[in-house]
Amino acid sequence: MEHERIQEQVFCQSCGMPIQDASLLGTDRDGSKNSEYCMYCYETGEFKQPDISLQGMTDLCTGFMVQDGMTEDTARQLLAEQLPRLKRWSALQSPEA
Ligand SMILES: [Zn+2]
Repeated sequence: MEHERIQEQVFCQSCGMPIQDASLLGTDRDGSKNSEYCMYCYETGEFKQPDISLQGMTDLCTGFMVQDGMTEDTARQLLAEQLPRLKRWSALQSPEA
């Protein structure tokens, strides 16, 4: 019996979305599943929005979370805590090269 449920909770390292099913995972260049990013952020080895800023991502995610029934204030507060810890954004906060 095959099922694609993921055992541990995985969060997209770009947008923070919980990835509860392997079908939501993004794909690498060779078409295999990427285990760090969701399909909305990452496809065939590239970010779908390569130039988006942390602020831009916050705005984008806020929109989805508000659609989901969250207030904008709560959504922004959550994202302000969550997004900077994700792999895609934490790298940006390293000291200037
Ligand atoms: Zn994502």
